[in-house]
Amino acid sequence: MKISVLKESAPGERRVAATQETIKKFIALGAEVAVEAGAGLTAAIADADYAAAGASVGDRASTLAGAGIVLGVQGPDPASLGGVAPGAWVVASLNPFGERTRVDAYAAAGLEALAMEFMPRITRAQSMDILSSQSNLSGYKAVLDAASEYGRAFPMMMTAAGTVSAARVFVMGVGVAGLQAIATARRLGAQVSATDVRSATKEQIQSLGAKPIFVENVAGIEGEGSGGYAGEMSDAYKAAQAELVSAHIAKQDIVITTALIPGRPAPRLISAAQVASMRPGSVIVDLAVEQGGNVEGAVAGEVVDVGGVKIVGHRNVPSRLAADTSALFSRNLFNFLNAFWDKDKAAPVLDEEIGDAVRLTRGGQVVNPRLLS
Ligand code: NAD
Repeated sequence: MKISVLKESAPGERRVAATQETIKKFIALGAEVAVEAGAGLTAAIADADYAAAGASVGDRASTLAGAGIVLGVQGPDPASLGGVAPGAWVVASLNPFGERTRVDAYAAAGLEALAMEFMPRITRAQSMDILSSQSNLSGYKAVLDAASEYGRAFPMMMTAAGTVSAARVFVMGVGVAGLQAIATARRLGAQVSATDVRSATKEQIQSLGAKPIFVENVAGIEGEGSGGYAGEMSDAYKAAQAELVSAHIAKQDIVITTALIPGRPAPRLISAAQVASMRPGSVIVDLAVEQGGNVEGAVAGEVVDVGGVKIVGHRNVPSRLAADTSALFSRNLFNFLNAFWDKDKAAPVLDEEIGDAVRLTRGGQVVNPRLLS
C-alpha cells in the first residue's frame, strides 16, 4: 500500500498531513510513504526530515503514481489527481457542504473520498477527531490574537506607578475551542465569563474558574441537539439571550465567539448595536467568521475597526499554528488508518459505523447520507 502526502495547494494553508513521526508509524505497518517535495516547509518540516523518516520525496507526479491512499489537510483539487487509479482513497478535511462540486468530481474519478470532519463523536474515535484537535489550538490562538490587538495588558498589575486592571474576557460558545479560550485567557490573568446554549457547559465553565452567563427559565433552554452539538434555539430563547448578552457585552474588553451549528450557518450572536455598545479599544475575535460569522460586521481574512472596536476575522486559524496543528492532524489521520489496518490485506478496512459516517463517495457515486438528504 502506497500512502501519498501532498503539498497543500489552498491559499494560506500552512499545515501538512504527515510528520516524521506518523511516516515512521505507517512504514512500521508495512506501508510505503511518498511525500511531495516542500510539503512540510511551512509546518517546520524539511524534505530531508521526511527522507530520514523513510519516505521518498519527489514531485507531485511521482508522489501520486500508484497511490492507494492520498492524505491531505484540505481536499486536493481533483484535476491534480490525474495519475491516481480509481478505488484509491482521498483522506482529508474535505468541507463536503462547502465544496460539493469537488466531492462530485472525486466520485466521477472513481475515488473513495473520506471526510475526516464527519468522524462520529464517539469515544473510540476521539483520537481520530480533527475537529477537536484543530479547534483546541484555535481557541488558544484566538486569545493570543485578541491580546496582540488589545492595547492593554491582560492581568491585573499593581505597580509603584499605580494599578493596571485585569482585562474582562467573554467567551461565547463553549465547545472545544471555547473551553481552551477560557483556559488560555485565565492563564494570562484575565477575568473570564462565558456562555453557551448547552446547559452542560455551565459546570465546565466554573471548573475553569470562569463565570457562567446563562439564560434561565425560558422554553427550549436545553440547547442540546444531536451528538453533543448545539441545536437551533427557540425565538423566546434568542430574545432572552440577546437581552442578557447586551448588558454583559457592553462591560467587556475582549469577546471571543466560537458558536457553530453543524450543517447550518453560524448563529448571529453579536449585532452591530452590541458592537457599538463596547468601549473603544475593545477587541472581538470571531472564530466562526468563515461559516458566516457570529458577529455582525466581521470580515473573513480581515481585522476591521468599527468605531474603535476591532473585529478580528482571521481565516483558517489552525494554520496559524501550523507546526502543532499539523502534528495533531497527522496523528488523527494515523490513528484512523491504524485502527482499521488489516495486516493480511496490508490496507485499512473500515467498519460500518465509522466507514459509513466518513465515506462521501464510492464506485463512482456520492454515497454519504448527509449529502443525499
Ligand atoms: P461546535 O464547534 O459545533 O460549536 C461550538 C460551541 O458553540 C458549542 O459548544 C455549541 O453548543 C455552541 N453554540 C451553538 N450555538 C450557540 C448559540 N446560539 N449561543 C451560544 N453558544 C452556541 O462544538 P464543538 O467544539 O465541536 O463541541 C461540541 C460538543 O461535542 C461538546 O460537547 C464537546 O465536548 C463534544 N465533543 C465530543 C467528542 C467525543 O466524544 N469524541 C469530541 C469532541 C467534542
